Amino acid sequence: MGAVDAVRGRLLWFEADPYLAGEEEAVRYVEDGLLVLKDGLVEKVGEASSLLPELAEGARIVDHRPHLVLPGLIDPHLHLPQTQVIASYAGHLLEWLQKYTFVEEQKYADPEIAAAASRFFLDELLRCGTTTAAVYCSVHAASVEALFAEAASRNIRLVAGKVMMDRGAPAPLLDTAETGYAQSKALIEKWHGRGRLSYAITPRFAVTSSEAQLEAAGALAAEHPEMHIQTHLSENDLEIATVARDFPWSEDYTAVYERYGLVRRKALFGHCIHLSARERRALGEAGAAAISCPTSNLFLGSGLFDLAAMRKTHPPVAVGLATDIGGGTSYSMLATASELYKVLALQDQRLTPFEAFHMMTLGNAEALGLDDRIGAFRPGLEADLVVLDAGATPAMAQRMETVETLFQELFVLMMLGDDRAVKATYVMGERTGTR
Ligand SMILES: [Zn+2]
Repeated sequence: MGAVDAVRGRLLWFEADPYLAGEEEAVRYVEDGLLVLKDGLVEKVGEASSLLPELAEGARIVDHRPHLVLPGLIDPHLHLPQTQVIASYAGHLLEWLQKYTFVEEQKYADPEIAAAASRFFLDELLRCGTTTAAVYCSVHAASVEALFAEAASRNIRLVAGKVMMDRGAPAPLLDTAETGYAQSKALIEKWHGRGRLSYAITPRFAVTSSEAQLEAAGALAAEHPEMHIQTHLSENDLEIATVARDFPWSEDYTAVYERYGLVRRKALFGHCIHLSARERRALGEAGAAAISCPTSNLFLGSGLFDLAAMRKTHPPVAVGLATDIGGGTSYSMLATASELYKVLALQDQRLTPFEAFHMMTLGNAEALGLDDRIGAFRPGLEADLVVLDAGATPAMAQRMETVETLFQELFVLMMLGDDRAVKATYVMGERTGTR
């Protein structure tokens, strides 16, 4: 389809968190806007009427009016080897892991299976308007190789890592403290910083890593102070009890990761449902991010993410929003935002549509420490875009007849929208996919 020189539409992006800065400060909306692109980056953003005359003769302009054009959506927590685990009937987290996930992930030792899954996975993300993700691969280096190769061929900005796990799973899924370290190191040397790819040090969680392996993960983290770390934290009661039993010296779950130097900026902690005030403070002080995965938490009955508690911690805990495929039940960030809204409503909290769309774009970019590259429309940022239609389905179109404000339109999109609302996705200024 090729790169375009400019995209016209109703432009929407954020310069700050609307909850903290207020909507006036945070929300940027241009009713008839133009994004001028150059070499895959945003060159200019503003009113179409003032920017159109500056374009060169013959410039390729795509007009997406009356649809909204936003920065590409960002998914900071999901699992490549779980595309065929999604929607598996189970009890709680640990049963689901043993019965389905740890069986399925064994297939990813096969490079061909990993390559085919990577193609499907990235197709599906782009179809849902997601242009950057932080991904857990399987324990096999082959799964990381496959995903990075596929992302590189599409020029997608991606964070991913090989899961480190040396206990608590079937033997074919286990590495050791030494091999987990060595394989991670080799993958870092080959892939980290290549094009738009970043490596994430990925100990699965404390339940499946020995102290020796967490120490090895900590050594990798110390050797690479700017690198992402991703793991799971405080998702399920039984998981928390297991960690307390296995690490009797630790005052709480978070302190296990702190002990090994894994709590810091660009460390992404999936779930964070049952944290104590001390644990939230530890995340806030370290600049680490709590990643909420509401469809997964509801599906597995794990609990309700407490956004208000994260916000009132000093300093506040950075929060991300993610699908957690395949514990999560939708690849769509819109559907995921809808479930977070309901999770918060059950706790007498609210999430405005501006806050939700900020989370899916700039908020998640900040949680990933990538807001100098993606997440907003500013000259120099990478031109990953999503085009959204709030009247995409009959039910949405019917509701849109009574919608009068942008706030209302965005709320319709997040409560009723999914992949069907995505009209186009662009990666570095190039339109992707088949629509
Ligand atoms: Zn997960």
